[in-house]
Amino acid sequence: MIISRIYIFNVLIFQKGPSDVGCNWLISSSAPDHVKVLLAFPRGERQAEVIGLACERLGWYVTEVRDTEEALDQFQARCHEIVIIDRRGRYCQQADEICRALNNIHHQASIIIAIVKKSFFTVSDQDKISTLQVLDNGYNRALIECSSTEIVMNELIGIYANEVQPKLQLAVAHSLYLAVHRCRDMVHVTNDRHFIQFANEVSEKLLGYKLEELLNKNLSEIVICENFTLMNQQLQKGREFHGNMNCKRKSDETIMISSRIIPFCAYGRRPTHYIYIYDTTYLLENVEVTSTSSSHLHPRGSSHSLRSFDIGSVGSDLQRRSSVAKLHNLPLEAPITKVISLLTTAMTDAVSPDVVAQIDKAIEILKTTELYEPYVREADEIFNDPVTSDLIGALISAPQYSRDSRRSSNDSSGRVSQVQRILHQQPLKTMSKSPRAPRDIEILLDGCFNWEFDIFRLELLSGRRPLYYLGMNLMNRYSVPARLNCDERTLQNWLTVIEVNYNVANSYHNSTHAADVLQATARFMESDRLKVLLDPLDEVAALVAAAAHDIDHPGKSSQFLCNAGNKLAILYNDLSVLESHHAALTFRLTLSDEDVNIFKNLDAETYKIVRYNVIDMILATEMTKHFEHLAKFVNVCSIRTEESQSEPFSDPVDSSVLLLPENVSLVKRMMIKCADVSNPTRPLTFCIEWTKRIAEEYFRQTDEEKKKKLPVVMPMFDRSTCSIPKSQIGFIDYIINDMMEAWNAFIDIPEMITYMKQNYEKWKEYNERGISTLQDVERLQQSAELQMPQST
Ligand code: AMP
Ligand code: ZN
Repeated sequence: MIISRIYIFNVLIFQKGPSDVGCNWLISSSAPDHVKVLLAFPRGERQAEVIGLACERLGWYVTEVRDTEEALDQFQARCHEIVIIDRRGRYCQQADEICRALNNIHHQASIIIAIVKKSFFTVSDQDKISTLQVLDNGYNRALIECSSTEIVMNELIGIYANEVQPKLQLAVAHSLYLAVHRCRDMVHVTNDRHFIQFANEVSEKLLGYKLEELLNKNLSEIVICENFTLMNQQLQKGREFHGNMNCKRKSDETIMISSRIIPFCAYGRRPTHYIYIYDTTYLLENVEVTSTSSSHLHPRGSSHSLRSFDIGSVGSDLQRRSSVAKLHNLPLEAPITKVISLLTTAMTDAVSPDVVAQIDKAIEILKTTELYEPYVREADEIFNDPVTSDLIGALISAPQYSRDSRRSSNDSSGRVSQVQRILHQQPLKTMSKSPRAPRDIEILLDGCFNWEFDIFRLELLSGRRPLYYLGMNLMNRYSVPARLNCDERTLQNWLTVIEVNYNVANSYHNSTHAADVLQATARFMESDRLKVLLDPLDEVAALVAAAAHDIDHPGKSSQFLCNAGNKLAILYNDLSVLESHHAALTFRLTLSDEDVNIFKNLDAETYKIVRYNVIDMILATEMTKHFEHLAKFVNVCSIRTEESQSEPFSDPVDSSVLLLPENVSLVKRMMIKCADVSNPTRPLTFCIEWTKRIAEEYFRQTDEEKKKKLPVVMPMFDRSTCSIPKSQIGFIDYIINDMMEAWNAFIDIPEMITYMKQNYEKWKEYNERGISTLQDVERLQQSAELQMPQST
């Protein structure tokens, strides 16, 4: 009974230590039923018997000795946790001799107790504190003689809990300290202001400083984090941070080391210490290898600094860690290397075999698979609907190798010389001088930020030049001429040239689609979130990219061009063929003439930034990268939706993280992507018109593939058989829905989602009503139900 209570007490005491460091495992000899007690009583007598009995009842081991020699022998052999020496009356001197001898052996975990008479505390000199006399002689405390076994038992338990256990804990802490001091990873412990309190042995070797020089130095003088802002944010929140550190050696060389920083709260809630652990095992091996000939490191990655590992002598985890460490110490590091390293560490630390297996599997996938290339699960119902599987397959898979080497007639090489011709055609010149649009167009453009903006009416009113009118209006609203330091006329010319280079013959990829994407982009940028996130040049680049993103689209997919051996496919090596062409042609045309070049007054650096952004956004419209862009955006910018707010660990997005340039890029890519395929989220009549146009374009491609005996990219998109409603249901299910939900959660334009859901239900209804072909859809458009004004 007593023993089990002591045990609970024992456990509680040990749990007072750092919450994530369990040191119980090191103190196996501390279990209370194994406590060893040395009794040094020169003459066997009653007091020794009482103590012996008390120990026996506690289940403790007792060794009795009579003199110093015996005491030393036994103590050295057994390392007793408690030593009790008879220091009464005439034995006082001998007792002190034993105590001194034992102290000389320096067994730190032991408690030495002097048994004294009651009078010891009462009759001594008033000015002297008796206990001090005992302590001065090397005892830890005095215990008054006692003939009651119960009282002695209670005293012994008190002594064990309050004195023996803390000493054992201290001994454990020392052993851990030694382990850290000697381990091969460099370790620094700092206070909350990052002043070094502890640096282990390896630090000297790697950094070239003496330990005394490191102590109390501010760590930031030596160690610079690549991603300091993120690191600080994480640490402030009490979270562990993983990242690369640039460690400056005393000799001024810098070594990049993968590291983790663990905040530690010794008391309270705020971190009192930071533990820096640098993955230097592998570096250290280099140091050891090279130290025979030279005292400093070879440059990282140089072949003679690499030493092969003794594979036979290490476990597979260790091998993996080593090879990851090797990768880490190369001068360049891909984020995937960091991820694999973190997972490897997690796997090494994981206890459950299931978790280990799952992490192992994850690492395999990360190492071997095209990470963002989606695959359709065999069981998925996408295979049940051939129209959907055709469409989604064609949209998201990269072009296959060309099976046909015939050339197509698509040729845009003469376009640059067209610019002059276009600019000098009379009607355009006249229009350049009179930027005011006809009244009805102006009235329409007043609502250019509405999600219900009627782009088809603008197409009609503008004589199929919606991009010019909408572009001038929106770009002026966004002060594009002022921001680019160009005159309005250059912008007019630019929009004219861009619009003329869209193919009017395409039913879908013409300048009305470009204008539609431009309108959606401008609407998105009116949102509060994007107003904060995007700077003026971002906005300009986005408008330029949206207007030009499909320029000179041939009305056929990249896959078609590859299959046909088209010269664009040859030029761009079958990679991002159309998007590369749109971006390249945009700049070719822009730079071809001073009167068109809206960038001509930008300084070189600003031009570079705008050019990068325009290209990046145009390339982001490539659908084969759809899941990659979406996944990256969701991972970084995901905002809590209503359902996820109840989840305890879902964090609202951190705006300082969003403002990192790489994350702003993710947002800009998502913005143009959503604008590009926003047609299923527009009011029903617009949505149907867009669907009709894209279906017609797909059908024309199939017609031509068949005619030219090319591989048919989407066999289901045959005008005689294709179910248009089914294609839209699949398109919304697999491409649009998740993306628009995520985008709406980010910028809050709920009408997009409302229309998307309504349209989805309508396509289902049309499908059930047997509406299928293009003619069916055209009849539907003429029907009374769609001639009614659409409610919003
Ligand atoms: P872009 O060529 O830049 O316009 O990229 C958008 C892709 O999505 C194109 O391949 C279009 O064919 C496709 N797309 C857009 N809207 C639809 C739609 N309603 N149904 C099927 N595919 C669509
Ligand atoms: Zn497009």
